[in-house]
Order: sequence, then C-alpha cells, then structure tokens
Amino acid sequence: MSVPYLINSDKGYVPASQRIPSVVKHLVSDRAKKALDLVERFVEEECIPADAVFTQQIREAGDAHSSNIVGRFESHPSVIEDLKKRAQELGLWNMFLPKNHFKEEGAGFSNLEYGLMAEYLGRSITASEAVNCAAPDTGNMEVFAKYGTQEQKAQWLKPLMDGKIRSAFLMTEPQVSSSDATNIEMRMHKEGNEWVLNGQKWWSSGAGDKRCKIYIVMAKSDPNNSSKYKQQSVILVPADTPGVTVHRMLGVMGYDDAPHGHGHIYFNNVRVPDSNMILGAGRGFEVVQGRLGPGRIHHAMRSIGSAEKAMDWYLARLNDPARTPFGKQLAEHAIQLERVARSRVEIDSARLAVLNAANTIDEGDAKSALKEIAEVKVEVPGVLMNVLDRAMQAYGGAGVSQDTPLAQMWASGRTMRIVDGPDEVHMIQLGRNESKRGGALLKRIEAQKEKTRELMKQYGLKNEDPLAINRVSGKSKL
Ligand SMILES: Cc1cc2nc3c(=O)[nH]c(=O)nc-3n(C[C@H](O)[C@H](O)[C@H](O)COP(=O)(O)OP(=O)(O)OC[C@H]3O[C@@H](n4cnc5c(N)ncnc54)[C@H](O)[C@@H]3O)c2cc1C
Repeated sequence: MSVPYLINSDKGYVPASQRIPSVVKHLVSDRAKKALDLVERFVEEECIPADAVFTQQIREAGDAHSSNIVGRFESHPSVIEDLKKRAQELGLWNMFLPKNHFKEEGAGFSNLEYGLMAEYLGRSITASEAVNCAAPDTGNMEVFAKYGTQEQKAQWLKPLMDGKIRSAFLMTEPQVSSSDATNIEMRMHKEGNEWVLNGQKWWSSGAGDKRCKIYIVMAKSDPNNSSKYKQQSVILVPADTPGVTVHRMLGVMGYDDAPHGHGHIYFNNVRVPDSNMILGAGRGFEVVQGRLGPGRIHHAMRSIGSAEKAMDWYLARLNDPARTPFGKQLAEHAIQLERVARSRVEIDSARLAVLNAANTIDEGDAKSALKEIAEVKVEVPGVLMNVLDRAMQAYGGAGVSQDTPLAQMWASGRTMRIVDGPDEVHMIQLGRNESKRGGALLKRIEAQKEKTRELMKQYGLKNEDPLAINRVSGKSKL
C-alpha cells in the first residue's frame, strides 16, 4: 500500500513496527506490523494536527448558539468525518474486535496487536473515533457481537460498526455506590410483552452526542431473587424512547468532553419490548462482566500512548534552547534527567504489563486474565499521572494552562483511577487472590527450614535460626 505522506521531518524516525518490545515481536503478524506503522503515521501526521481543529469547531458551535452548552453538544465537527473517511481509505477500521472471538465481525487482529495500535490512538483526542475504536462504543459493540440476537445485531451493531451512530452504557447511579453493581437500584418490571424502566443513571458517557442512538442499560428486574447476582438485567433502550430525559451533562474537572460528554439521565415509565433484552432476564452480571474485561485494557493501552505523548512534550521542553533557567537548558539540570529516566522505566514496564494482559486474553479469555487485567487497570493510570506531572512541572505555568495538551490529558487520565471500577476494588481482588497462596507458602517455607536443619546436621554445622523456638516450652527446636 503506498502512503502519500509528506511529513517525515524526524531524521531518526524508526517505524513503530521496529520498536515493538522484543518479548512480543514474534506474536505480531506481518499484516499487523504494516497496520501498526500506518496507525502511527495516521495519528502523528493527520489526527494530532486535527485535534486543535476538532476543539475549535466545537468551541465555535458553542459560540454561535444562544446556549453555549447546547451548541457544544449539538455540534458534530466535520473534521472527524473527514478523518473517518481517510482511516477507511487506509484500511484502519474496527481493529479492536479480537480475531479469536470475532472471526466475522472484526478486522482480524489479536488483542496484543490491537494493544500496540491503541497506544498510538491514545496520543490524540480524535484518533480513536476516526478509526471507529472509541469507548464506550468498542465495549458496546462487543456486547452486541457476543450476546446480541440477529435482529439486535442488524439494528444496532451494523450502524455502530459502520461508524454511523454512537452508543452509551448506563450502569452507574448517583444515589448508590455503583462500583458494587449489586447496589444498582433502577427498577424494571414486565407488563405484557414490555419492560417498564424507572430511575436515574449518571456518568453515561457518550450520551451528549446527538448521534448517540442506543443505550445499553443495567436495571433490577428481580429484586427478590435469592442470588444478588441474578437480580439485574441488561436491556436496550433507544435514546429517543418516550420517558428518557437527559437531565444535565457532567463536567470532568471543568472539561465537558463535548460533544460526547457524560450524561445524567432520568427514566420515567420508559417502555421497551421484551425483544430488547440482552442474553436473558437476570443475566445482567454476565453481560457486564463480559463487557468490562477487554474495555479495561483498551483504556490501559491508550493511557500508555498518553504517557508517551506527555514524554514527547517533556523532552521537547527540556531541549528548548529558549528555556534556560539559572543559565542552562532544562536538559542540563540533573534533576530533570533523573525524572526523564524514571518516566522511561515506568512507561516501558507498564507497556510490558499491558501487552502481557492482552496476550493472556488472547490465549484464553478475559476471565482467565483477571489478575493481569487488574494489574494494568491499577498500574497504568498511576504511571500516566506521574509522567504527566513531571511534564507539566517542566512547563511551569504553561503546563497547567490550555496552551499545552497536558492539563486536559491530566483531567482525563485521572478519571482512569475511577472508571470501570475504582482502584480499590481491583486491589482488593488482587490482594485477596494473592493472599490465598499464603497457607501453601507457609508450609513450603517450614519444609525448607526443616530441610535446612537436616543439611546443617549432615554438614556438622550449628543451626543458628534464633526464631526456631518451641512456642509452648520456649526451648530451641534445634
Ligand atoms: C469520566 C467518567 C466516565 C464514566 N463513564 C461511565 C459510563 O459510561 N457508564 C457508567 O455506567 N459509568 C461510568 N462512569 C462511572 C464509574 O464507573 C463509577 O464512577 C465508578 O464505578 C465508581 O462508582 P461510584 O461513582 O458510584 O463510586 P462508589 O462506588 O461510591 O465509590 C467511591 C469510592 O469509594 C471507594 N471504594 C469503593 N469500593 C471500595 C472498596 N471495596 N474498598 C475500599 N474503598 C472502596 C473508592 O475510593 C471509590 O472511588 C464514569 C465515570 C467517570 C469519572
């Protein structure tokens, strides 16, 4: 494929495919390597320059409307449609659906291969949508592809895969701790062939976009079921169903993320047919678990890309000849170099952990990779925060202003410690599972000590383990 790119000013440029970490290189097909190089160049040369156009088009739509907020959310920047066309010409579309589970629907890449690509997508605010790999649509498309009926697929998956509509996933509620989904209160009850929904949801990402046509909603259909994991169902609610009201849009540390946004939505006697049920009544937990596994690592992959972008900006500032505090360039101040080195170590280690999680999913499924997914879900946002903080610091006042992308990246990156379940939930699960090995380890360590005692005797040595005391008699066991 010939690539009519003009920009390649960086003489030391080494394509992404040649920078794949060596431990996973053998797992990446030649086709994926070619696509990876294309993704990198598409992002660097077309999406990143278009990011400012996207932001400006939204701002102008707000300014032109009598209500700035409505104007921003009603806008649909034309630059994004141009980028989508360009991505399709390049064959970069829907790369996120992994080939081992979605032979028909996907673009034929593994999670690991997509992970390498998603890193580049994470460097731009337009790139993920441009290649139709943006959250929450990616997770929602997986739900349709995995659990949808033929009718649901035709009605919703097809236009989503074609990039014609967008979608939202509605689980979190303002009045309960939603990180524990058994708390979800929204009720749905059956009347004839219809389900009737009442309640409220918030942090419904994507609901601000006028192209968002379908909500995937979790609600309580059987509150008295003896299993608290069988009380919920997941059902499809078209955004224009009577009784649905987008009450307001939420901000993330002052950013509205328009036109996508995060909605607070009321449901008042919202009626949908039984055929809108996903998988079956009472199986909501299965659907949610199936959706969140891969989605969590997509966020982690993009966060590595954000961290690399922060690093680019950091290095550019350190080497800017116009910046010479206390008589020398920033790059000559040792404290900055130590921070650069620390950032490099953290990013490279985190990337390996992400790729390992992706490959573990490829070898089994998201369930068999619970530990690896939890590790990166917790670790990567921390690394991103560290690197962004160092980069922002190096820019001084500019670092926290709108003149660099760093402040907005920080606001968005910080949410990763909360979205798809807060850090603590993953840490507890990880800690609990690790701790389960403790009993067996205690026995092994005791057996090793016993063996040491035997060896000591055999070699005629005195065993000097001061802790080898009989608890009852207080005498040495030796
Ligand atoms: C930008 C953004 C986008 C989002 N997009 C969506 C979306 O599209 N759809 C959707 O449904 N939701 C979405 N969410 C919501 C998100 O998933 C929830 O905010 C998250 O799961 C936490 O739930 P909660 O807000 O109800 O907080 P709670 O469940 O009340 O948790 C609050 C805090 O309590 C602490 N905590 C919780 N559990 C434990 C524990 N076991 N041990 C110790 N401490 C604990 C943690 O510090 C946690 O942050 C989004 C959130 C943000 C910020």
